[in-house]
Amino acid sequence: MVEGAGGKRDTADVAIVGAGPMGLVTALMCAKAGVKVAVYERQGDFSASPAWNGTGVIAPDCEADSADATIVDLGRRSLELWPTLVSGLTINGALVLGNRRMPSALDDYSAFVLNYDWVDEEKIAALEPSLAGIYGRGMYFPQAAHADPRVIFSGLREALEAAGVRIRFDWIGTLDSLTAARIVDTRGLGARDRFPELRAVTAELAMVRSHKIELNRPIRLLHNRHALYVTPRGQGLFAVGATTIDDSRTGVSVRSAGELMMHAVSLLPAFAEAEVVDLRSGQMPVLMNGVPKVAVGDRVIAVNGLYRYGWMVAPAIAEDLVRVIYTQATKVIHATKPPRR
Ligand SMILES: Cc1cc2nc3c(=O)[nH]c(=O)nc-3n(C[C@H](O)[C@H](O)[C@H](O)COP(=O)(O)OP(=O)(O)OC[C@H]3O[C@@H](n4cnc5c(N)ncnc54)[C@H](O)[C@@H]3O)c2cc1C
Repeated sequence: MVEGAGGKRDTADVAIVGAGPMGLVTALMCAKAGVKVAVYERQGDFSASPAWNGTGVIAPDCEADSADATIVDLGRRSLELWPTLVSGLTINGALVLGNRRMPSALDDYSAFVLNYDWVDEEKIAALEPSLAGIYGRGMYFPQAAHADPRVIFSGLREALEAAGVRIRFDWIGTLDSLTAARIVDTRGLGARDRFPELRAVTAELAMVRSHKIELNRPIRLLHNRHALYVTPRGQGLFAVGATTIDDSRTGVSVRSAGELMMHAVSLLPAFAEAEVVDLRSGQMPVLMNGVPKVAVGDRVIAVNGLYRYGWMVAPAIAEDLVRVIYTQATKVIHATKPPRR
């Protein structure tokens, strides 16, 4: 039995606290495994999660230049699991290009990544007709997906409702007030009481619109500071981002806004005429080594530190959690090597 702050009793064996990607995906995978589960979210909707404002790129092989190997492996497994959870993801790869002012950047980058094909001007034009004649070579990563995160949130919500899982928004209780046999703590930055070393890193994104440009997949143009993708969202909309700024400010700085716009124009000059629709940002939960941590206690399992990889790693971590919930085993994900960036 689970008791909420208001004293109202629910019947659930597992209580999940926090309705970000980690909490929702865990809830759905528990429900699919036949576990009775309920979700508790402090805010009135999903917009408190940084993922609401996210880029929605799931490209583990492209991220191997800076992400820990553990994250890349979790991302590869998550790519297999996502289609079993919700529709709305487009799995048709990602393209990585070098900035023309840094001709060796693509070669340097290629030393850190796997599972790609070199593509020439002709192949780039076949993949992305809008980029025809601009880039002489690039790298195509077939195992990559993209989605509008808000579409994924609503897909997860629908799937949870269909499975009979209740999401209680505006929940003001504490973990101690819950009486479920198992509690999964996925509170992101709300879990500093459990993870004192948690820090916030801000990520920023620009939404732009152009009906003259068509892209089919995320395009990463190598940048000296950020992993920036231009990602199609349909109906002429493109997400440009995200920056990662190591502080907890809210909002998008003038410097970052300018950098994101210039980045889109560097990728494709036609973006100079695009309309700026929105600037978005969010604060991501990061642990010291930049790698997610799963801490299994007697009753509470806490997952945190998903940094800029929440969508990319949540299904693979949730798969392990469901196993832990069944077997009561103890598993902690360690960094296999320090992050390179
Ligand atoms: C601009 C931007 C771009 C991004 N792009 C990508 C991307 O392309 N791919 C990718 O994989 N990731 C991306 N991310 C990162 C992703 O958003 C995070 O990794 C992810 O949100 C972390 O998920 P989480 O569920 O662990 O925590 P969160 O998303 O932070 O969710 C935690 C939830 O817990 C709730 N909560 C907190 N305290 C309590 C409490 N006491 N009781 C109940 N609920 C509580 C919060 O309100 C929140 O809803 C991006 C982020 C940003 C900001």
